[in-house]
Amino acid sequence: MEHRVAIVGAGVSGLTCGVLFAEHGYRTAIFAKETGQQTISGAAAALWFPYDAEPAEKVIPWALQTYKVLVDLICHPMHSPGRAKPSHGGVSMIELRQFSRTSEIQIPDWAIPLGARRLPSVATSVRLVQDCAQRGGYSSAFKSGFALKVPLMDTTIYLDYLANRLLDVGGEIHGNARFEKLEEVDLNFDLVINCAGIGARELVQDIDLEPHRGQVAIVPKIDNLSCAIVCDDLPLMYAIPRTNDCVYGGTNDISDNLDADPIATACILDECSRVLKIDNPPVLAERVGLRPFRKSGVRLECDRLRDGRTVIHNYGHGGSGFTLSWGCAEEVFALGGLLG
Ligand SMILES: Cc1cc2nc3c(=O)[nH]c(=O)nc-3n(C[C@H](O)[C@H](O)[C@H](O)COP(=O)(O)OP(=O)(O)OC[C@H]3O[C@@H](n4cnc5c(N)ncnc54)[C@H](O)[C@@H]3O)c2cc1C
Repeated sequence: MEHRVAIVGAGVSGLTCGVLFAEHGYRTAIFAKETGQQTISGAAAALWFPYDAEPAEKVIPWALQTYKVLVDLICHPMHSPGRAKPSHGGVSMIELRQFSRTSEIQIPDWAIPLGARRLPSVATSVRLVQDCAQRGGYSSAFKSGFALKVPLMDTTIYLDYLANRLLDVGGEIHGNARFEKLEEVDLNFDLVINCAGIGARELVQDIDLEPHRGQVAIVPKIDNLSCAIVCDDLPLMYAIPRTNDCVYGGTNDISDNLDADPIATACILDECSRVLKIDNPPVLAERVGLRPFRKSGVRLECDRLRDGRTVIHNYGHGGSGFTLSWGCAEEVFALGGLLG
C-alpha cells in the first residue's frame, strides 16, 4: 500500500520531515496554522549550536548529524527543477565566538573534533576580535571565549528553500489549517507526524512543554562583522550577521506573550552595541517566538491515535530546532520507514 503522510506543522521540524518523506517518494502533505515567516521558526536566529534542549545524550548526536547534512548542502548545493542555479538555501558557514563574561568558558567535548579553539585571553585577543569586527576591543566585555565554525541558516531564505524542495517533488503545504486534535487529520493519510512545536501543548495536551520566550531585533548589516558573537551568561547576548541584515538578541523567559517588549528591545540594542563598540543601529523589525522547551526532553516517538493510525511525535526542540532538524527528521523517517 502506498503510504500517505500528513505532517502537522510548517516550521523547520515539519518542513525538514516533509522534504525527507517527499524526496523518498511518499505522498506528503503539510497542514499548519501558520507557515513561513509566521511560524516560530521564522523568528529564530538559526545558528547551529545545541542550546536549551534536553536530553544531552540525544541532542548532541542529532545536532552532529544535522551539522553533517548542512555542511554537505554547502559543499554540494542542490539542483531543483525549474531553478537555473543550484542553491545552498541560505545556509553558510560562519565563525561562532562564544564568550563568558564571568568565568573560564569550557569547550564542550563534542566541539573539539569540529575544530573548536580557545580564544586567547582578553589581553592578547585584540587582533582576533579585530579580524571579526575590525573595531577592536569589544572582547573587553568578556572574560573568556572559544571559536568554532558552524552552519548558519538564514531563515528569510532557508524556510522557503525547504518549502520549495518539498513542492518540487510533489509535496503539498496547506496553510490556515488548525486542528483541535490529531484525529481531525483526513483519514486518507495513514501516517501522521506531529511537528506542532509549542502548539503540541494544546494539540496533544502535553503539559511538559514550557514556552521559553525569545525576542530579537533585526538591524541593518553591520560593517565588517563577519562572525557571530554569542554570550549565554545573563544578559543573554548575540549578534549574528545574515545575508542582508543582522540579528541582535536576545531574551529567554518563561512566558506566552508574543508581543514585542520595547524595553527588552532597548536592552538588547544597548548590550549588543556596547559589546560591539558601535552606536545603536536603527531597528528594522522586532521578532518574538516561543522556544518549545520540553522539561522531559524532545519528544520523538511513535504512538497510536484513537482511530488506530500511527503518529510520530517530533516536537519540544527548545532553543535548538534548527540545530536538531535533520538528525530528528532522519530518526522520524527511520521510524516511519519501519511501518512500511
Ligand atoms: C528568538 C529565538 C531564537 C532562536 N535561535 C535559534 C538558533 O539560533 N538555533 C536553533 O537551532 N534554534 C533557535 N531557536 C529555536 C527554534 O526557533 C525552535 O526550536 C524551532 O523553530 C522549532 O521549530 P518547530 O518546527 O518544531 O516549531 P514551529 O516553528 O513553532 O512550528 C510549529 C508549526 O506547527 C503549527 N501548529 C501548531 N499547532 C497547530 C495546530 N493545533 N494545528 C495546526 N498547526 C499547528 C504552527 O502553525 C507551525 O506551523 C530560536 C528560537 C527563538 C524564539
